Amino acid sequence: MKEQQQNAQTEIRRRIITRIKELAAQKKLLKQSDFLSEQLAGEMMYGFEGVYTRSEYDDLVTGIFSELLQKKRERTEKPIEQPQGDSNIVIEVKNLEKVYEMQAESVHALRGISFSIERNEYVSVMGASGSGKSTLLNILGCLDSPSSGDYYLGGENVSGMNDRQLAEVRNRKIGFVFQTFNLLSRASSLHNVELPLIYNGTPSSMRREMAYDALNKVGLGERVQHKPNELSGGQRQRVAIARALVNNPQIILADEPTGNLDSKTGDEILDLLDEVHRNGNTIVMVTHEAYVADKTHRVIYLKDGIIDTDRLTYNGEKKNNKTNVDRKYR
Ligand code: ADP
Ligand code: MG
Repeated sequence: MKEQQQNAQTEIRRRIITRIKELAAQKKLLKQSDFLSEQLAGEMMYGFEGVYTRSEYDDLVTGIFSELLQKKRERTEKPIEQPQGDSNIVIEVKNLEKVYEMQAESVHALRGISFSIERNEYVSVMGASGSGKSTLLNILGCLDSPSSGDYYLGGENVSGMNDRQLAEVRNRKIGFVFQTFNLLSRASSLHNVELPLIYNGTPSSMRREMAYDALNKVGLGERVQHKPNELSGGQRQRVAIARALVNNPQIILADEPTGNLDSKTGDEILDLLDEVHRNGNTIVMVTHEAYVADKTHRVIYLKDGIIDTDRLTYNGEKKNNKTNVDRKYR
């Protein structure tokens, strides 16, 4: 008798799951409330009336829905932190291509780019205007995806990810600094720096503290309530750097971070980036100024969407104690 009861319960459960999957496969709107309707309940329990009371049936359906949703989440959301082994490589791109499809023509902005960057490298990307620097940096920063090729970020293949997954990876692993700062103009420094933490659901009390901390690090502890238009260009870029640092990301990407600043202020920003690098971060920075690139340890030079040269700078050689290795990839 007990066994019969159990078999009946198993069968009802199976029917419910089968029906949910059928409906999902037909892309019909799936609602738990539909399953709790009298009609469907009757259909699912047909032949086994009396096995469940109405409220037990409702609990069963609710339980099945949450199990299935959980399974779906596990399937669709790629595992986040994949074991990195003891590999020191934080960025690896293979044969990256990017084609912008325009109405009249298609622009081949990247035409097969391969390189890797190790933890705590300090790299600049140079090249003439239009050579693909920003396109490359945007892909490295998960702001855009390549047309083809592979991108491994901390061992995780991000080239096939959808926008939502890219946004999540970006928030967790990358701090991005733009030439034009990209701050919210109506918001205080503190709020601008808090934004990435709001996106990733950090509780508000922690957020405050972390944002203060980041602003202190860039020397703006006294300016937390100022809005961007109450700050100088250099101070705005400091806020942007604090925002990039606040999540403690593995990688800082900067697209001409000194491009809109006078040279003295620019130098201060470069000193700040030096310090970020010394603290263990990996930095990739686009610049068109040789003296800026010289401060980094390695220069990847782009020409028409491919790597022309990939060399250590004088500082890089000194640091690595190596002779100038041309890491040209063709
Ligand atoms: P750089 O930063 O080195 O000046 P970009 O990466 O911005 O170069 O641009 C590389 C090429 O791709 C250029 O020819 C540019 O016109 C083109 N390009 C860049 N962004 C877009 C876009 N969103 N749509 C179409 N073409 C673009
Ligand atoms: Mg650019």
